[in-house]
Amino acid sequence: MPLPDLTITCVDCGGVCYPLGWHPEDGEVDDGEVVPYRCRDCNDRWDVVISDEDASAPDY
Ligand SMILES: [Zn+2]
Repeated sequence: MPLPDLTITCVDCGGVCYPLGWHPEDGEVDDGEVVPYRCRDCNDRWDVVISDEDASAPDY
């Protein structure tokens, strides 16, 4: 099962986003699970689908 990124880069402002409701000690999540991230700088929320598949080819 995949491990969510600890941080992602905010598309809007380039800031750092941290996961909401998930902590590194929680470990791996189910494939396809959605983990929300919150931008530290602009406070935007990003829902990221966690997947084992190549993240560079999202299946929207
Ligand atoms: Zn931002």
